[in-house]
Amino acid sequence: MIELHEDEFSRTDCLTCANCCKTTGPLFTQKDIERIAKHFRMKPGEFIDTYLRLDEENDFVLQQVPCPFLGADNYCSIYEKRPKACREYPHTDRKDFHKISNITIRNTAVCPAAYNIVEEMKKRLK
Ligand code: SF4
Ligand code: SF4
Repeated sequence: MIELHEDEFSRTDCLTCANCCKTTGPLFTQKDIERIAKHFRMKPGEFIDTYLRLDEENDFVLQQVPCPFLGADNYCSIYEKRPKACREYPHTDRKDFHKISNITIRNTAVCPAAYNIVEEMKKRLK
């Protein structure tokens, strides 16, 4: 899977896509919130009130998509400080990828790279 991930992302230009930032958005951990709030010189509570909400599983997520930090050019305006979930998306290089199969299958509907990786994996398993 890691080999397939590296191969696919050597050909993928996320700046021509940004579908993850446009349609889903990440979970924000407490550390993410503190780091990004500091970047904007906001208090964490103020950052939460402005940009985030709690979802059904009690995780902080964006109030709306597309992500407000996504530029018209598909660049992330907080790239260096972006949430951990954004850095790791679509999670296809995780060593324990077999434990997150449901997430990976869901991500194939959002991420063309994840789709290609899963399709290639299916071919190799035949
Ligand atoms: S959806 Fe996948 S290919 Fe598109 S920008 Fe996000 S990670 Fe890159
Ligand atoms: S923080 Fe940046 S990388 Fe994460 S969803 Fe928003 S624009 Fe995309």
